[in-house]
Amino acid sequence: MTANLLEFDLEGLAVFCEGLGEKRFRATQLFRWIHQRGASDFDRMSDLAKSLRQKLQSHAQVAALPVTRQHISADGTIKWLFDVGDGNAIESVFIPEDDRGTLCISSQAGCAVGCRFCSTGHQGFSRNLTTAEILAQLWFAEHFLRRHLKTDERVISNVVMMGMGEPLQNYSALVTALRAMLDDHGYGLSRRRVTVSTSGVVPMIERLASDCPVALAVSLHAPFDALRDSLVPLNRKYPLDELMRACIGYLAHAPRDFITFEYCMLDGVNDQPEHASALIDLIQKYARQGLRCKFNLIPFNPFPASGLLRSPLVRVQAFAKQLQDAGLVTTVRKTRGDDIDAACGQLAGDVKDRTQVHNRIAQQRIIPLVASPTVANQE
Ligand code: SAH
Ligand code: SF4
Repeated sequence: MTANLLEFDLEGLAVFCEGLGEKRFRATQLFRWIHQRGASDFDRMSDLAKSLRQKLQSHAQVAALPVTRQHISADGTIKWLFDVGDGNAIESVFIPEDDRGTLCISSQAGCAVGCRFCSTGHQGFSRNLTTAEILAQLWFAEHFLRRHLKTDERVISNVVMMGMGEPLQNYSALVTALRAMLDDHGYGLSRRRVTVSTSGVVPMIERLASDCPVALAVSLHAPFDALRDSLVPLNRKYPLDELMRACIGYLAHAPRDFITFEYCMLDGVNDQPEHASALIDLIQKYARQGLRCKFNLIPFNPFPASGLLRSPLVRVQAFAKQLQDAGLVTTVRKTRGDDIDAACGQLAGDVKDRTQVHNRIAQQRIIPLVASPTVANQE
């Protein structure tokens, strides 16, 4: 059987090399060829002994994912659609900015969480991506961009696990991929510049803190459980109190001294002054227990099946101001690449739904506009 070498972090590759009867340090050279230089042809790896190259030819490959579509947006954002077989396709998005290049990566074909406002969620869930499929997105994008921009310098400085899927529901593949991203012999990314975004898989937040702490973003979207239950169904399993405590615990290990809370602004659903007040109460309560956070308000990117609308900009700004006036650091996310459906929550490769998520969401009811203050203020 041939192994796909994109499946390994450096330790895994060292074990693989040992299995071929080679010294572990050979793995470092090989890892650098693959990830730093983008090589997939073993013959090019001139400083590897011929005997090793021959063994690699018969036992290994560097198997990238076929790119089925590439869109370049007017603002420089690039979206790729990768074929992962069996009718499933996933998406990655590159977002260039003055001081950084960010790649948004997918972790699953579809997603089983089924958030009401998310296009991926509406498609249902097919399967977890392998480590190779997660890393192949970065491998391809980094080396494509170097060729495209005619540079030998690193182009991607930041990775966000904010594409399709819930990364913490694909934990072991994710952690191996993260290790390759952070490895100095791999992509050498700083822990502060690799972000895992989660809808709140509490036990895995706790594990990530000890296994591979990177920057953490938590998709909050609601200040109280009743509303969050209806927007992010996972909240019924891991309600806000547990989530907040997990965030506080994570901070003890995190490379940044705050958690980023993402809050998708949905017209008439979670964007009223009462919601901002309840959010301030929630954060102040947990700040007393050590929570430190920043808010990122995301204007909702609409798609027809959601039945939801984007909050008007004035309301987003008023919401941001209310949080800021209460001392919460809050930014409003710029929408990028929406002309090519590459904005948050618009990623929807092709997913062969193996669950009933799709039907479930369609039946889900969002609770009334503003929950009663007694609910909002419950301790
Ligand atoms: N599953 C993870 C990561 C992928 S979603 C998570 O939920 O955090 C990445 C981000 O996009 C999340 O913050 C999510 O809430 C947001 N998002 C999803 N659908 C969106 C939409 N239609 N408009 C704006 N943001 C959306
Ligand atoms: Fe899954 Fe995240 Fe979309 Fe929710 S927002 S359905 S967790 S990808």
